[in-house]
Amino acid sequence: MLNNPESYPHPLISEVKIIEGKNNFPISWLNKQGFCEYGIYLENMKGVMVKPTRAMVKGAKEHSLLESKFKEEAVPATFEEIMEASETGEVLSREFPVISVKYGIRGLIDEILMTPDKFIIIDDKPGAIPYISNIHQVYGYCLAFKEMIDEDDRRIFAALRERGTDDVYWKTYFNRKAENEIIKVIKRVHNLISGKKRFLPTKNPNKCLKCRFNKFCDKKS
Ligand code: SF4
Repeated sequence: MLNNPESYPHPLISEVKIIEGKNNFPISWLNKQGFCEYGIYLENMKGVMVKPTRAMVKGAKEHSLLESKFKEEAVPATFEEIMEASETGEVLSREFPVISVKYGIRGLIDEILMTPDKFIIIDDKPGAIPYISNIHQVYGYCLAFKEMIDEDDRRIFAALRERGTDDVYWKTYFNRKAENEIIKVIKRVHNLISGKKRFLPTKNPNKCLKCRFNKFCDKKS
């Protein structure tokens, strides 16, 4: 759907790409950073490999079911066609790729509803609690999307929905405050990648109990 800029793999970190001379990381890392940034270190710098949790496997299955159902009636379209169609009517898109070369982030939006006066960017999550880590992930999508739509001044909303349901349990306008908040987090992640800052472990033992890296982590509380 998009013309992707030329990219190269980072020499040391598999999920990081170098795009136009700048490190570019997956937007899902904003979620991982909010949970515990030391997990990013273990997985991507130390190469610790662990099986996905049961919740992750269930989530992936539900996600692909939704995707197949959506594809039964979906019509393939380019970014420009989608944007144009949404100026006069509602357009729903899934697995919408976004990239920001400026902020060094990229990802796939679960679902985006476009209308003549707004965009609602929806991320599906298990459960219905708006954790800050989930909010940061959806803010990351909003920021990348905002850069892509350039001078289109329709308002952007960030929303979290309980996976497999229609329950949008959290929604907010992606305003300047939200934008500044996520830019700050993104800068921190870039500083972690470049080694300017240290990956800090969470101090919350409840997170460690649930963490899939628990067995291999030398910093767990
Ligand atoms: S066990 Fe705790 S400190 Fe270690 S990566 Fe997991 S959440 Fe972070």
